[in-house]
Amino acid sequence: MDIKDLMQQSKDAPDHQIKTLVDATAKINQDFKEEALADQAKASGGKYGYIDIARTPINPDLYYLVESEIAQKALLIPFFRLGAKLRVAISDPNKAETLSLLKDLTDKGFELQLNLASSEGILKALELFHTAQNAFKSNLKTTINESELEAYQKEIENLAKLTEKIGLSSAKEGLNLLELGAIKTGASDIHFQPQEKSTLVRFRIDGILQNVSELSPEIYKQVAQQIKYEAGMKLNVINIPQDGRLSFMVNERKIDVRISTIPTEFGETIVMRILDSGKKFASFEELGFSERDLKKLKEISDLSQGMILVTGPTGSGKTTSLYSMLNLYNTPERKIITLEDPIEYHLMRIVQSQISEKSGYTFAKGLESVLRQDPDVVMIGEIRDIDTANTALQAALTGHVMLSTLHTNSAIESIPRLINMGLEAYMIAPALDTLMAQRLVRQFCPHCKKQEAISETEQKYFAEKLAEATLITKESYPTPTELPVAVGCEVCNHTGYLGRIVVAEVFRADDEFKDLIVQKKSLLELTKYAQSKGMTTMEQDGIVKASQGLTSLEEIKRVTS
Ligand SMILES: [Zn+2]
Repeated sequence: MDIKDLMQQSKDAPDHQIKTLVDATAKINQDFKEEALADQAKASGGKYGYIDIARTPINPDLYYLVESEIAQKALLIPFFRLGAKLRVAISDPNKAETLSLLKDLTDKGFELQLNLASSEGILKALELFHTAQNAFKSNLKTTINESELEAYQKEIENLAKLTEKIGLSSAKEGLNLLELGAIKTGASDIHFQPQEKSTLVRFRIDGILQNVSELSPEIYKQVAQQIKYEAGMKLNVINIPQDGRLSFMVNERKIDVRISTIPTEFGETIVMRILDSGKKFASFEELGFSERDLKKLKEISDLSQGMILVTGPTGSGKTTSLYSMLNLYNTPERKIITLEDPIEYHLMRIVQSQISEKSGYTFAKGLESVLRQDPDVVMIGEIRDIDTANTALQAALTGHVMLSTLHTNSAIESIPRLINMGLEAYMIAPALDTLMAQRLVRQFCPHCKKQEAISETEQKYFAEKLAEATLITKESYPTPTELPVAVGCEVCNHTGYLGRIVVAEVFRADDEFKDLIVQKKSLLELTKYAQSKGMTTMEQDGIVKASQGLTSLEEIKRVTS
C-alpha cells in the first residue's frame, strides 16, 4: 500500500478508521524519511552513520549530558557511551545550534562519533526521557531491596572496593552505592569536593572526614545531576547555592538526606547530610559515660521540673545524649514534645515538631505554642536567642522539665553565655538543674589495635593527671605501663579507629552553686566549686579513659584543646 491508496481510502472511511489511517500515513512518511536519511548517510561516504533513534535503547545517564531544552533546539541526543567515546544522533550537521552543542561536548573531553537520525526520532526520544524522568520523580524515593542490598554489600566490603565499583556504574547505581556505603560505614555526611582534575568524595565517619573515592569530571557531573534531580533542585543552575532533600529506602527503612550545594572554582560542591531516623541510638551506658556520670544522669530521670543544658560543638553527640535523656522520661504518664531542626530520630510516643525558620516557625514561636499543649517534658533543639531562653527558663520553674543545647566549650560556661544573652542571674539560678558538656573521641579498632609499652615521660604525664582526677573523684586510677596503639586495617579504612565514646563533664546545680550564680561569681570560681563537688572536666574524664585503653591521648587532646 502506498500513500495514494491510503488517501483514497480515507475519503470513504468512517470516523473511527480515520485515526488509524492518519497514524499509518505518518508511519509511512516516517519510514520514507528514515530511508532517505539512510541514503544520505551512505552518500556522506562514511562520515556519518545512520541510526534509527526511535528503535535504539539509550542509557538514561546520557540524558544528563545535555540540557533537554538545548538538546531539543539542537535536535541532538547522545545515545551510547564508552568511556570518553560518545555516539551522538543529530538531524542536521549544518545547524548552528547543533554545531555549538557538539563543540561543548568536545570541549568537555568527549570523542564524538556522529550519526544521522530524523528530527522526529530525536524529539521523540527526548520526550520519552522527559516522561520517564517525571514518572521516576513522582516516585520520589529510591528503594534498595533486601537482595540488592546483599549484592551491593558483597561488592562494597570495604571502601576501596566501593571506589572501584562506582567508576563502572551508571550515575544512578553510583549514587546508590555511595548512599549504601554511607549507611554501611555509619557515615553522617557525604562530601563531594570538585578539584582541578577530579572530584574528591569523602565520608564523615565517627566525626572525621575520610577520603572514599575520586570521581572523574564526567562521572561526577552525572552523579551530581542525579542528586540534584532526586532532591528537586534546578539542574541547570550551578552558579548559586541550592538546598534540597531526597530520601531512599534501605530494607524498608526510609532514610532522609539533606542536600546543599555551593558553587566553587572547579564546579559545584555538594554535601549530603544523612538523617537516618530509624537508626538505633545508644543508651548512656553504650555512649561510654563513666559510672560517676551515669549515676547523675539516672537521677535526672526523676525530675519533675528544671532546666537541663547539654553543650558542645556540632558533632559532639549532644543530640544523641538529649534523645537518650528523653528516652528516660518516655513513660506513658508523661507528655513529651520536641522542637527540632532537623528531626534526627523518630521516637515512639513523643510529639516531634520540625522548626521552619523560613516560614516563620522559629524556636521562640514554637516554644510558646508547645507550652500551650500541656507537656511535662520539652526538648528545644537549640537556644539561640533571649526570647527562647526566657520562655524556657520560665517553663522550667513552672512544672516542666526543659532540655536544650548551647554552643559553649564547657558545661559551666553555660552560665556566662546565658548572662551574655541578656538574662538576669537571679532568673537563671532557680531554673537550672543540670549542666553538661561533651565531646566524642574515637575508639581503637578492635580488629587491628596493638598493645605497646609506653614511654617514661608518658607514664609520668598519666601519673600526674590521674592524681588530679583522684583529688576530685576520690577514686584511685592505676598508671598504665602499656596501652593500645592504632594500626589500621580494611575494617577501619586504615585509620586504626572504629566507633566512638563520649568524654563528658556533668554537674547538677545545688543551692550553694545557685547562690554563687546570683552573686555573679566568675567562670573560674563557678568551675572550682563544681570540681569541689566531684565534677571531672572533659579532659580529666578523657585521660582516665585513655589510661584504661578505651581511646588514645591524641584523641583526648584533639577534642579538648
Ligand atoms: Zn582496624
